Amino acid sequence: MKRSLPFLLCFGLLSGCTSGGSGTQPSEAQFFSMDTLMSIRVYDGNAQQALQAARQAVTRLDGLLSRTDPDSAVSTLNAHAGDGLPVALDEQTMEVLSFSKSIARLLPGCFDITIAPVMDAWGFTTETRHVPAQEDLSAAMALVNSDKLLVDETASAARLELAGMEVDLGAVAKGFAARQADAALREQGVTSALLDLGGNVTVLGCKPDGSAWQVAVKDPQNPDQALCVLSLEDETASTSGGYERYFEEDGVRYHHIIDPETGYPAESGLLSVTVVSSNHMLADALSTALYVAGPEKALAFWDSRDDFELVLCTQDNRVIVTQGLEEGYRPAGEDRGYTYEIARR
Ligand code: AMP
Ligand code: MG
Repeated sequence: MKRSLPFLLCFGLLSGCTSGGSGTQPSEAQFFSMDTLMSIRVYDGNAQQALQAARQAVTRLDGLLSRTDPDSAVSTLNAHAGDGLPVALDEQTMEVLSFSKSIARLLPGCFDITIAPVMDAWGFTTETRHVPAQEDLSAAMALVNSDKLLVDETASAARLELAGMEVDLGAVAKGFAARQADAALREQGVTSALLDLGGNVTVLGCKPDGSAWQVAVKDPQNPDQALCVLSLEDETASTSGGYERYFEEDGVRYHHIIDPETGYPAESGLLSVTVVSSNHMLADALSTALYVAGPEKALAFWDSRDDFELVLCTQDNRVIVTQGLEEGYRPAGEDRGYTYEIARR
């Protein structure tokens, strides 16, 4: 049930914002996909058809990208690791693999979708969470290298070079799903909608009253409270944090975002990273990668690009908000000891 909290929080806060608007009642679908609870609220267009189409788009992607579904495209790719045979793949799976490799190149040592054997070693995949023996971790780490995931765009095929390698798209799949769901809604004439795909919040257009959506970023140390509230239109806010999935052993907390250099949960000085972008898949991938990168590298990367904004929450209770979010953003955690600052170019 812990995993349903982000959803409850988001919509709890958001519904407070929307009720003051035109009074339009949304049509809503809630469902479980990609190992998480998802919700879509639609405020106009062919609402029922739109919800059905968006849900189908997400479910279809889950069927391609899931690592636990033995019939998925990703499972087929994984099953052929090391046998030398390229696996023919559909356009969407190819796109997410190529995109993930590009993020790995942009942020070396931070993002690697061949992290799957390490996730298994920690028991995150099978819910048997434990600190792995060093030899098990070393064996798993020897299989993590997305340079050895060969993607052939011309042939629409991919291959994992080493036996035992496996791809895990947990860091990007929900962002890709957000894009597909967003497109499915728009095709049905929807111009105002709110999607929460397991902590990736995507907004279409504005609220029915014409004002921007107000999206809460959770306080990573009190996840049922807000850290700040953002004004968003046609964007995704994707948050990664160690508080989302973790276990404790001998009084130490171990979370699910792994530093591909060490095989251990990333300790970068950050408690959470929120990436806001109109590129939904970029937002998802970067929230994971920049959590591993840490605050300095994350801000330097932000400075080098113009296609996303950030909210960083550091271990020493600083909340760093990049300049593009300044207008309309509201701090909400001063009473819990947070201090807020704007990062400028
Ligand atoms: P997110 O919740 O989007 O930050 O993604 C976290 C998920 O991505 C984990 O549950 C793993 O499946 C996967 N993952 C963990 N660490 C990494 C990493 N460094 N690079 C890519 N994927 C990762
Ligand atoms: Mg992510």
